Amino acid sequence: MDISDKVIVVTGSSRGIGKSLVEAFAHENAKVVINYCHSEKAANELHHQIRQYNENCIVVKADVTKREDVVRLYQETYERFGRVDALINNAGVCEDHAIRDMEEDSWKRVMDVNLTGAYLCSRVFAEAMIRQKEGTIVNIASIKGLEGCANQVNYSASKAGLIGFTKALAKELGQFNIAVNAICPGFIVTDLNCRNEEKKRIAEKRCLLQNEHARTDFIHFCIFLLSNRIQGVSGRIFTLDSRIG
Ligand code: NAP
Repeated sequence: MDISDKVIVVTGSSRGIGKSLVEAFAHENAKVVINYCHSEKAANELHHQIRQYNENCIVVKADVTKREDVVRLYQETYERFGRVDALINNAGVCEDHAIRDMEEDSWKRVMDVNLTGAYLCSRVFAEAMIRQKEGTIVNIASIKGLEGCANQVNYSASKAGLIGFTKALAKELGQFNIAVNAICPGFIVTDLNCRNEEKKRIAEKRCLLQNEHARTDFIHFCIFLLSNRIQGVSGRIFTLDSRIG
C-alpha cells in the first residue's frame, strides 16, 4: 500500500488520532501537513519529531472554521509541495450536555468545527484537486452520526451531517476523478473522550472483538484508502469496529 510522495493534509493533527495519522503517513514517506488550532506546542513537537525521519513535513496553524485560515492552509501546502493528493477532514470537538442544558453556543461550536470546517476545507482543497483531475477526501465521521448518542445531539448531528455531506460531495466530484469517503472509527481513547469512562465501557461491551486494535485498524484503513490499491470507491461510509445492536 504505497503512499510515498503523496501530499496529505490532516486537519486537527496536533493531538489524538490526527497525530497518529500524520506520524504513520510520514513513516510511509508521504509528504505531510500537520494542522493545529490551539495546541501550538504539541504541533511543533510533533513537527520536530517527524522531521527526524522525514523532511517533507510542515506545520500550519489554521482554524478550520475560518475561511481565510483554510485558504492559508492550502497556500502553504501548495507553496511547499506544489500539489495536494489527499485531505483528511479530521478536526473535531465535542461538548456534551443533555439537550435541556445545551446552550446554542455549544450547539454552534460543535457544528462549526465538525461540519462547517469540513465544508470549508473541502471547498478550498477541491479546487486544486479539480485542476489536478485527481484527489481523495476522507471525512472522519463517527458511529454516533449513524446511531445517535444521548447527551451528544450536537456531536451526533454534526457527524450525521458529515455523512450526508460525504455522499453528496462524492456525487459532485466523481467526474473529476476525486474520491470522497467517510470513516467512522472504533472507540479510540484520546483527549476527546478520555474523561468519559462510561462511554468507553459501553463501547467496549458492544464489541464482538477486542477494541485494542482500534487505533491501528484506523491508521491502516486510512493508508489503504489513500493508496493506489483502491481506485474505484467513493461516496462510502466505513464503520471500523465490531459492534452489535
Ligand atoms: P482530540 O484528541 O480531541 O483531537 C482533536 C483535534 O482537532 C486536535 O488536534 C485539535 O487541535 C483539532 N481541532 C479542534 N478544533 C479545531 C479547529 N477549529 N481548527 C483546527 N483544528 C481543530 O480528538 P480525536 O479523538 O483525535 O478526534 C479526531 C476526530 O475523530 C474528530 O473528528 C472526532 O469526532 C473523530 N472520532 C474520534 C473517535 C475516537 O474514539 N477518538 C471516534 C469517532 C470519531 P488543537 O488542539 O490544536 O485545537
